[in-house]
Amino acid sequence: MTVRGDAEQQLRSASLRVTRPRVAVLDVVDAHPHADTDSIFTAVRETLPDVSRQAVYDVLGALTASGLVRKIQPTGSVARYESRVGDNHHHVVCRVCGAIADVDCAVGEAPCLHASDDNGFVIDEAEVIYWGTCPDCTSTLRSQP
Ligand SMILES: [Zn+2]
Ligand SMILES: [Zn+2]
Repeated sequence: MTVRGDAEQQLRSASLRVTRPRVAVLDVVDAHPHADTDSIFTAVRETLPDVSRQAVYDVLGALTASGLVRKIQPTGSVARYESRVGDNHHHVVCRVCGAIADVDCAVGEAPCLHASDDNGFVIDEAEVIYWGTCPDCTSTLRSQP
């Protein structure tokens, strides 16, 4: 959990005006990596009971556009947000329950996969999602007869 001062500083460093909804959303995303919009909205309401759903959507859009927050959306999942940005990490997603975990980049710098033919594009990112079965689902599947 980040202290309030951190969120304010992050907003200032991204030249975003410091508002209570922005600080609250950033704090929630810091504390709950890969949370979806609904859970973020519910958690923000605990600190700011009057905040509207639209306000939270708008804040998430502004934070994503400024690069403070990264939006990830694996196929078949709703959009999820995290504040761990800029380190080119990847995600592993459970095919059974949709759980998401961070995977450090194997190589370290983007793009960590080099295209065999870049078609003349300057490539700066390769988006990689690993798919599999999480530990909980693996043991559930194993314990079934
Ligand atoms: Zn699972
Ligand atoms: Zn992540």
